[in-house]
Amino acid sequence: MKRHQQRPLAISMGTLVLPLLFLLLTSTATIQKQHNSLAERRENASVQPSPLPTAEPSPTVPPKQARIVVIDAGHGNADPGAAGASGKEEKEYTLAVAQAVYAELKADSRFELHLTRGDDSYVELLSRAALAEELHASALVSIHGNTFTSRSVSGTETYFYDDNSSELAGLIHSRLLEAMHFRDRGVRRNDWKILTHSSMPAVLTEIGYLTNPQEEAAMLAEDGIRRAAQAIAAALTEFFFPAA
Ligand SMILES: [Zn+2]
Repeated sequence: MKRHQQRPLAISMGTLVLPLLFLLLTSTATIQKQHNSLAERRENASVQPSPLPTAEPSPTVPPKQARIVVIDAGHGNADPGAAGASGKEEKEYTLAVAQAVYAELKADSRFELHLTRGDDSYVELLSRAALAEELHASALVSIHGNTFTSRSVSGTETYFYDDNSSELAGLIHSRLLEAMHFRDRGVRRNDWKILTHSSMPAVLTEIGYLTNPQEEAAMLAEDGIRRAAQAIAAALTEFFFPAA
């Protein structure tokens, strides 16, 4: 009886080992795949200033993946931001510029644009940064208008926090100065929450002082909104597609 029992046992061992081996191999492949996609995401999140891989056959061929850019209109709803010299609120200005940047770049297939708000709603500061993180955005630009107790103070200030954001901050600042002709108040490092909680190049721009009557008038004019938006769009294009 014992000898007869050995044979079926040997067969069942063989039938067990093969599926086990297959299972082991496929699960290793799955883990490797997950690891690869994680690495890929991490790579996408940390943006290289020169986006076109060297293997790209021609600079006229658009990259396979569009650059995801989050445009943040500062403040909103119960948080009006600065009260301008005319009494108009900053939240309206930031929304107008953000929507104009969106309009400038929406036809460019190299970009995928997202707004943190498209109406007069309030979004928590950390949620604005979180949105950019969730989207694996390549850049975040937060738009503001400045305020001061003295009406005479004027000029453009652009902020960044992490070193990976200084180049984009410099480009946005330069293009805004050229477009608006406001006083150059410099590119500065500051730990604004929206900047410290964003891993991609993140820039906060105070385009001008809404509390300065002349500057406010230039900023709120239809042409002023368009020029500010074109400046930000041009800086983003130059940052991601320097050869274009
Ligand atoms: Zn603001």
